[in-house]
Amino acid sequence: MTQLTPWSLPAVLALVVAIGSYIRVRDKGHVPGVEAFGWLTAGIVIWTVAQLVAGLFTNPDIQIWALRFQFVGIVIAPVAWLAFALTYVSRRVHMSSWSILAMAVVPITTVLIVFTNEGHGLMWQSVQPGIHLGVATLDTVRGPWFTVHAGYCYAMLIAGTSILAQNLAQSRLHARPLVSVIAAPVLIAIANLFTLSPFNPAPWFDATPLGYALAAVILHVGVLSFGLLDSAQVVRHRVVETLIDGVMVVAPNDKIVDLNPTAQTLLNINSQAMRERAFSDLIGNANLKALVDSPREQNKTEITIDRRAYDISASLLDETDPESEVVLVFRDITARRKAEDRLRNMRMELQRLANTDPLTELYNRRFFLQRLSEETERVRRHGSELSVLLFDLDHFKKVNDTYGHDAGDKVLVLVSKVTQHVKRITDVAARVGGEEFALLLPETDRKGAVRLAQRLRQAIEKRQVKTDSGIVKVTASIGVATVTNNHKEVEHLLTHADRALYKAKESGRNMVCCAEF
Ligand code: GH3
Ligand code: MG
Ligand code: MG
Repeated sequence: MTQLTPWSLPAVLALVVAIGSYIRVRDKGHVPGVEAFGWLTAGIVIWTVAQLVAGLFTNPDIQIWALRFQFVGIVIAPVAWLAFALTYVSRRVHMSSWSILAMAVVPITTVLIVFTNEGHGLMWQSVQPGIHLGVATLDTVRGPWFTVHAGYCYAMLIAGTSILAQNLAQSRLHARPLVSVIAAPVLIAIANLFTLSPFNPAPWFDATPLGYALAAVILHVGVLSFGLLDSAQVVRHRVVETLIDGVMVVAPNDKIVDLNPTAQTLLNINSQAMRERAFSDLIGNANLKALVDSPREQNKTEITIDRRAYDISASLLDETDPESEVVLVFRDITARRKAEDRLRNMRMELQRLANTDPLTELYNRRFFLQRLSEETERVRRHGSELSVLLFDLDHFKKVNDTYGHDAGDKVLVLVSKVTQHVKRITDVAARVGGEEFALLLPETDRKGAVRLAQRLRQAIEKRQVKTDSGIVKVTASIGVATVTNNHKEVEHLLTHADRALYKAKESGRNMVCCAEF
């Protein structure tokens, strides 16, 4: 047998409202509070559906089962309220499993007691079929656990409400959320107290779920819709505040509107100074000024403050409005710059080592040949003249044998210095063998090359090296070769110089010979 009574209307209303509220917020997935809000509406749905079943059927067995199932929803709702408060305030999406478990001990016990009531009567001392106002229903006499359960529910409601109220009172939001988190539980309490009071026309009539459903609406309108906005703002605010990058906002009238702590430290401006002074007074840096004046064209610049390098990018706060504030983001790139410098220096040092003879610090053979090929290429293209001197120390083996290898080395270093001194800046001097040197003379004709060779020969001849075993003097034989673009011999310049050197040796040493070709 079934019955339709107007007493079921509040439950229908509560059901519709709860489902509606859930649908409104379910897409907001990862927003703090939304998950618990979902549980709140789920509790109301279970509660009201069970209530409707109990009202619809006249069979006492069905009514008893429906009464029991109501409690599944009844215990969820207040716990969900507290969970909502906790997650919303702490800006978390989920509660930890331990907190949920701790909060669920009493509710689970209540449900177990409800379903095993026949054995102990802790929840209801008696449950009897009865008829009130023409409605077939159950007459119940409450047991001691009911008080525990009701007390716990109220405790959850009060705890959740005070947490929310305290938090919202501190936040700079409007009064609306605060009013609603106080109004919502008051509504629940009124509905519940009415239900339990002698004013309730029928003892089986329960207005509490309707109270919860209306509270859910209030919560949604007053807190969640605000909170959705608010949480994004809070997150953004926190990100900007704790960012290792400096952020500064400059208004079109040159005033600094805002800057985060990092920017304050970087620019050594506190928020007080910021309010009083204009951007251009504080920032003497021309680059930065230009960046703020035309952020579109000059999107990035680099500045140095206290020996630290910063990469600064500028953008308009409102991209569609060229007159809007400019947001400057300062990124410390000192470490990157230092690393780059180190790398560059290392690369240069490596390059230098690869091209240098360690004893004399002249260029080595490898580098000389590379420069020679570059210069011969130039001669071939542009038709200039190029000369090469190749020289070898005379009887150097004897120097080593007489004075020792170290003395020989000293002589080699001295000859290198002499060569460096005699040559022009554009000439390339290299040690191409043991005691064999070469000079590359760009834009130099035969006459000029011979003149330089003679100067070099005389300079070497004049110098001497003091050693423990006496004074060492050396001479050099020099071969000269010159080409212009007319020559087919460009490729063989070094060979020709070598031949000329051989000729100088053959002709008695300490002399300059020219290649003839
Ligand atoms: P020449 O006039 O015909 O060139 O006679 P030389 O003794 O100089 O000719 P040779 O090529 O026979 O000897 C070159 C000597 O140079 C052999 C070697 O002992 C010496 N030598 C080569 N490299 C070095 C070096 O790095 N340090 C020193 N101390 N001696 C070197
Ligand atoms: Mg020699
Ligand atoms: Mg030699």
